[in-house]
Parts: sequence; C-alpha cells; structure tokens
Amino acid sequence: MQRISHILISHLHGDHFFGLPGLLSTMNLLGRDKGITVYCPPELPSILQQILSVGGNKLTFNVEFKVLFFDSKNCIFEDDKIEIWSFPLKHRIPTCGFQVKEKTKPYRIDAKKCEEAGVELHHMPNLLEGKNILIDSIEHDFRKFTLKPKHSFAYSYCSDTSYDETLIPFIESSDLLYHEATFSSKHKERAKKTFHSTAQQAATIAHKSGVKKLILGHFSSRYTEVDELLDEAKQIFPATHCAEDGAIYDLSQ
Ligand SMILES: [Zn+2]
Ligand SMILES: [Zn+2]
Repeated sequence: MQRISHILISHLHGDHFFGLPGLLSTMNLLGRDKGITVYCPPELPSILQQILSVGGNKLTFNVEFKVLFFDSKNCIFEDDKIEIWSFPLKHRIPTCGFQVKEKTKPYRIDAKKCEEAGVELHHMPNLLEGKNILIDSIEHDFRKFTLKPKHSFAYSYCSDTSYDETLIPFIESSDLLYHEATFSSKHKERAKKTFHSTAQQAATIAHKSGVKKLILGHFSSRYTEVDELLDEAKQIFPATHCAEDGAIYDLSQ
C-alpha cells in the first residue's frame, strides 16, 4: 500500500468516501511514512479530520488535500509521464469524473536509418524530441531517422452520473472507460430520477466516445446477477466487461 500516493474522491455520497478513514487508519497501522495526496470536494478535509481525531491517534504520515472544482475540466496532477484530469459529471450533488492519461512519448530512434546516414550520437536527444538536426550545415527532417512514438494510453472514470453526452469530449478515444451502470433498461425511469445510468446508456456513451473498452460497475443490489446488465450493454458496445475486484486489463490488446 506504500505505492498508493494519490486518492481521488469523486463526490460525497457515502459509498464513495466512507471507506477512506478506514483505509488511512490501516495505512497508519502498517507503519506508512510516505505522504499521500487526496483530491476531494472542499467539505471532505474537515469531515475526515474530525473522524480521525476522535480516537486521539495521529497519523504517522502527512495527508495533503487538494480541492476539486466541479464546473470545468482541470488538470489536477502531472509529472513527467502522466496527467490526471477532473471533469464534471451530472449527479445529484457536485461530482467529478477523472481521466489518467500518459503524456506523449518520445519518438523512437530508427537505428538502421541513423547508421546508414552516419548520424552521430549527440543528435539523439533532439531526434527523440522530434526536432530537426543539422549535419554538415544541412537541415534534416527528424522523421527521416525516427519512428512514431509508442501509443499513449488513457483511462477515464465516470463514477455516478446520469446519461450525459457532454461527457464525450472529456473521455473521447480513451483506451479504457469505467462508467457506472446502476440500473438495467427496465429501470430507466428510476435511473433518470436518481441521476444514475443504465447499462445501455453507459454502452451508448462508450460507443459515441470511440473508447476501446468499457467496464461497468456500481450495480444496484436489486440485481443478484449482473448478466442482464452486461448483455444489454454488449448489444451496443461488445467490448464491455463487468468490474471485478483485483481484475487487471491489458490495454495493449
Ligand atoms: Zn452518488
Ligand atoms: Zn455511488
């Protein structure tokens, strides 16, 4: 659990954050010393501090809170490899979706072409960045000596939301989309009333966004079998799976 460094809380319905005090306490008991950043609605820091202070124990690590904005798309984190974006969902209370995406990767050196043309090693950093190089005062297009960057993967997460096509530009072309599917089409009216989605609606969003794979979750406990939801989604978007704890999805396939 030391590897977890960021926690994203989409909204303040209990099923999305009541587990957080327990998780942080468990990390404490396991002797965590590395700080953690929690991205959350503005009310959460004081709620959490009150819960954690009741027992009189202090956390052995630092928790930094970063407040989310719910009216626009925002970059909430970036390092040299990835970016994390938040964007508004349509739910009963302010709610964010998230997208984790890899930054554009460097161009790849075409060793054969470089060798044939005698390109010297000191040109490599420029080629990796997609910059033209000068050889004997003649400019050469970097594309002559490079291959396209490897694909940058993107994962989008839409926790609780109504069917909302304004999400499409935020999640377009993701390699993997998680979208809630609380109800089946049979309970479409209930979905509308409670600002949730049906499996069919989640699949329609996946189809219209041009994503590659869809994971459904957040199923109402009224469904003892989720096959019904999976089947109705697959009719619209065949590459659909139901969320399972601990499952690993290979995005390269
Ligand atoms: Zn909710
Ligand atoms: Zn929920």
